[in-house]
Amino acid sequence: MEIVVLRVGHRPERDKRVSTHVCLVARAFGASGILIDREDKRLESKISDLVDKWGGEFWIRSGINWKREIKERKKKGWRIVHLTMYGINVDDVINEIRKYEKILVIVGSEKVPREIYDLADLNVAIGNQPHSEISALAILLDRIFSGEELKREFKNCKIRIIPSKRGKTVLRVDSLGEE
Ligand code: SAM
Repeated sequence: MEIVVLRVGHRPERDKRVSTHVCLVARAFGASGILIDREDKRLESKISDLVDKWGGEFWIRSGINWKREIKERKKKGWRIVHLTMYGINVDDVINEIRKYEKILVIVGSEKVPREIYDLADLNVAIGNQPHSEISALAILLDRIFSGEELKREFKNCKIRIIPSKRGKTVLRVDSLGEE
């Protein structure tokens, strides 16, 4: 299964921190990449630097025409899952979502254009109370992968954590990607 996240309504100055966290969650919880509607080169380089250090193949592209992106992916067989508190509860559709091969997950920022609700194959709610795109994305991905995504190894990292009950243990990996 391939999952790409599309962030709609990103405002480079106001949403700096939240959009960064959406990217971090997308990567850590198993998405392949993220598309951001407004161009934001600073966000792109922040995430690329993070991938360089922590590994994996996560990618980011900003300055995306969301409507064209959704329509083109739909033609290529991608399923569109829009996260919104107005949608169907995740537990009622998770088995259907797990059958999809390629999923574009849309998360909003402020008000999401009405057209997205109609273009989506599924409008999915992580409960029908308002909360956040960060939590909604994390929970959806975790439900899709049933927690397995948390055990993934990120290849070609320069730094890796050795889990420990107490203290902080960090392993530095040499530039060839060998320990
Ligand atoms: N009021 C906005 C609207 O009408 O779309 C939502 C703003 S909310 C801060 C930002 C994003 O968080 C939403 O676009 C949605 O993707 C996500 N979100 C918030 N609560 C959610 C929920 N209960 N279920 C799914 N997604 C949610």
